[in-house]
Amino acid sequence: MTLSLNAFKMAQSQFDGVAKQLNLDPQAAAMLRWPTREFRFQIPVKMDDGSINVFFGYRVQHSDVRGPSKGGIRFHASETLDTVRALAMWMTWKCAVADIPLGGGKGGVAVDSASLSIGEQERLCRGWIDQIYRNIGPRQDVPAPDVGTNPRMMGWMMDEYSKLVGEFTPGVITGKPLGSGGSLGRTEATGFGVIYTIREAMKHLNLETKGTVAAIQGFGNVAQYAAIGYDQFLGGSVACVSYWDREDQKAYTISHKDGIDPIFLQSITDVYGTIDKDKARDTGYILEDGSAWISKEVDVLIPSALEGQVNAETVHKISGQVKVVAEGANGPTTPEADEVFKKNGVFNIPDFLCNAGGVTVSYFEGVQNDMNFYWSHDEVITKLDQKMTTAFQGVLKMSERENVYMRDAAYMVAIDKVVKAMELRGWL
Ligand code: NAD
Repeated sequence: MTLSLNAFKMAQSQFDGVAKQLNLDPQAAAMLRWPTREFRFQIPVKMDDGSINVFFGYRVQHSDVRGPSKGGIRFHASETLDTVRALAMWMTWKCAVADIPLGGGKGGVAVDSASLSIGEQERLCRGWIDQIYRNIGPRQDVPAPDVGTNPRMMGWMMDEYSKLVGEFTPGVITGKPLGSGGSLGRTEATGFGVIYTIREAMKHLNLETKGTVAAIQGFGNVAQYAAIGYDQFLGGSVACVSYWDREDQKAYTISHKDGIDPIFLQSITDVYGTIDKDKARDTGYILEDGSAWISKEVDVLIPSALEGQVNAETVHKISGQVKVVAEGANGPTTPEADEVFKKNGVFNIPDFLCNAGGVTVSYFEGVQNDMNFYWSHDEVITKLDQKMTTAFQGVLKMSERENVYMRDAAYMVAIDKVVKAMELRGWL
């Protein structure tokens, strides 16, 4: 994310624009343009060398009108309250668009988790829960993994919460490991969901998916399964992915003349999404600057790393061949870049629709925790496809009916559902 970009200002500006178009009741708009609740807390962590490091933790609950707040916890060095606010707000719209009975929340810690030992990570995770456990829970607010956090961390957090409240409570957090209340299909959910929306977009645009080529930014959880799905479900290929190299402290774009092999690349990628560049070079992969992914001559761009990557400056590097931009990441496109897409007729699949697969299976995980009965992988993936397809078609219908850009249509669908819930609960 560039330093000049404030993600929360961007989220508010997107909301304000649609509120105006919708002639939204100013009282409803006033309630929704800020989070309902925000927490900032200190987490003192005993480090391996015996010293104590104080980290700042956040949890923001944007809205719980449609159900308990829901959203991930990010461990990222440049995490700020404003990033968490923006992400919490987008979660409200995401759950509404996907028609999941949950609200929007997000959490974070300003830390690079890769800089911590496993023991320090565990103490930080448990410390995060110790500070906030009174304000989260299966019926209040249900966190999940996001950038820099993983299933093992969710397992520790669930354990800490269960100990504090005195009962096994798997439903407090999703994205848990299998065997500890996790759901089959959660790992692939976001990336596969991205692919289902691309499939529907291509159908709408009368484009054959077979033989098309995509370029992806990132090679973490979302990007890896989007790359695998692009190949397996759409019959296309992925020209390149990019990643942050922790050793060199810079981003690279990595490509192969025959298209990348996502399963092979996954086998040489660490848990932080950093690819072993020496092993990749040895097998014919080419490394370029981290920004190269955006200017590739491809049909589909899938930004799946960080916010603000498609902006006023980078949008002009996009090839005229690009027909679809599928936002795997949250907030990858700035309002300036949106204007360019509208002018050039690029079909955008907005983040909170495109990457809703993760929260959809997180919701399935909570449902399975409540039932204490677990579904097969096929059952989860089939239900995910149905939810994503229905959500895409709902937004597309709104976009055609109101003759608006897909992001605006997604906001219209989401805001309409949230405001209806506010009315039904007597808040307006
Ligand atoms: P991750 O931590 O697993 O992976 C992030 C990837 O981005 C890594 O490969 C990293 O090397 C790469 N990266 C970081 N900085 C980069 C840079 N400057 N240039 C190129 N690559 C860079 O994260 P993730 O879970 O895949 O999440 C990615 C995005 O998707 C985030 O915006 C997140 O909020 C969003 N998202 C994630 C999920 C989920 O279920 N994991 C769900 C919805 C949305």
